[in-house]
Parts: sequence; structure tokens; C-alpha cells
Amino acid sequence: AAERLAQKVVLITGASAGIGEATAKEIADAAAGDVKLILTARRKDKLDSLSDSLIKQYPDIKVLTTELDVSKTDTIQPFLNGLPEEFADIDVLINNAGKALGRDDIGTILQDDIEGMFQTNVLGLIALTQAVLPIFKKKNSGDIVNLGSIAGRDSYPGGGIYCPTKAAVKSFSQVLRKELINTRIRVLEVDPGNVETEFSNTRFKGDLEKAKKVYEDTIPLVAEDIAEIIVFGITRKQNTVIAETLVFSSNQA
Ligand code: NDP
Repeated sequence: AAERLAQKVVLITGASAGIGEATAKEIADAAAGDVKLILTARRKDKLDSLSDSLIKQYPDIKVLTTELDVSKTDTIQPFLNGLPEEFADIDVLINNAGKALGRDDIGTILQDDIEGMFQTNVLGLIALTQAVLPIFKKKNSGDIVNLGSIAGRDSYPGGGIYCPTKAAVKSFSQVLRKELINTRIRVLEVDPGNVETEFSNTRFKGDLEKAKKVYEDTIPLVAEDIAEIIVFGITRKQNTVIAETLVFSSNQA
């Protein structure tokens, strides 16, 4: 794996916590530090402490931390334009930023939550992908990893808007993969089941009691489990596309 990641520029959204943070660490480990990471999210302080710990472990690793709210789609192109030269030629885009807001039924779900989920999970992901694609097309090479969800395949009561956002991610990934057929640009989608991260806190808007209950009597996956799958996908031979991976804990099936 190390030689397939060597000197690659990897851009991760939502790298301040959970799966994004774990993926940054997993990539650094798999590349033994011979990689360039662009870590983005809204909480820059968290990105900076992740960066510090990676540099401590791998003094030669290159890490750039930048505040990027993917839901603010008009900030995406300026962010890419402003990348320092050594980070500008992106090789891997990991569209990980995403959230569920509330578990309300369709009748009571708040308009702000509907827009917040679509804006981040769908419109932000699409806008960033569109903006990065010219870089990949120019060199006819690149990997796009989209975080879908089991919720994009199986809907459930209270998943009224989160489920459709993840179904949109799946559909978008399929369209893109087909449009990019016969190129050396791969589109991978990873669809996790329950993973114990801050995700549940966000979903229940900080109600930690409710958030914890989600994982009661289950053995949820941890972020590292998903990070391993992502790294496996991006380190396959160029003509091998792990197109869609559904991953859940053995007691969730
Ligand atoms: P976390 O809540 O732990 O982390 C979410 C990350 O996304 C944080 O780093 C957060 O950083 C970032 N983020 C949220 N909103 C934005 C935004 N507008 N712009 C940029 N970054 C943002 O969740 P997970 O790690 O669990 O989730 C990662 C992905 O995996 C998501 O797409 C989620 O839908 C998907 N997933 C998660 C599952 C789970 O059970 N945990 C199951 C299936 C899919 P910050 O707040 O600093 O911006």
C-alpha cells in the first residue's frame, strides 16, 4: 500500500472527527508518512491537533489544515485556488463530511434541518467533486471516495431526509462512475452501518442520553473500521474499482 500512496495529495472533508479523522490517521500509517494530507472541516482547532499528532509520529509528512464548510458551496473554488503549490495537484478526494439532524417524522421535520442535510451531504459533496474533477481529468488520474450509508439503501421511520440525502450520494456516485468509464479516475462509495462517532450526538442535537442509546445492546463499528476499508479501496491496482462497499457490524444485519 505504501508505494501506491507515496507522495499522493489526499483531500479529506470532515477530518476533525470520526471517520474523517480516522481515515487521515490510517492513510498516514499506510503511507508511513510519505503522503500529503489536506485536512478540512469547520473546527480548525481539531484539525490542528490532529495535524500535530501526525507530524509528531511522521516528521516528514506534509499536512495542511484548512477551515472548509462544504455547505457553503461558493467557498469551495476559492479554497482550491488558494492551495499552496505542493498541495494543489490533488490525487484523492474523500467526501466524508456529512450529518443527520434529528429523527423527526416527515410531518414535523424542520425546514432548517432539511436544508442543512441536503446542503452538506449532497450539494456540498457535488460542488467539491465538480471543482476537483478538472484536476483529475487533466492528468487522467484520481480517486473519489464518497461516504454513503446503509441509510441510502434501506430507509427507516425518522430517516426522512437523511435517507434521501444518502440515496442521492449513491445515485450521484453511479452517474459519475459511468461518465468516467474508460478513464483512470475511480469513484468509490463506502456505505457504513452504525459507527460510534460524534454522528449520533449531532443527530440528537447534543442530547447525549439519546445519542448513547443508539449503541446500547449493539457492538457498533468504530471509525477505524471504515477508515481501513477506504484505504483498502484507494490502494488497489488502478484498474480495480471497489465501487460500493456496504459495511456493518455483525449484530446489525
Ligand atoms: P461525525 O459527526 O463524527 O463527523 C462528521 C464530520 O463532518 C466532522 O469532522 C464534522 O466536522 C464534519 N462536518 C459536518 N458538517 C460539515 C460541513 N458543513 N462542512 C465540513 N465539514 C462538516 O460523523 P461520522 O464520522 O460518523 O460521519 C462521517 C460520514 O459517514 C458522514 O457522511 C456520515 O453521514 C457517514 N456515515 C456515518 C455513520 C455512523 O453511524 N456514524 C453511518 C453511515 C454513514 P466539523 O463539525 O468540524 O465541521
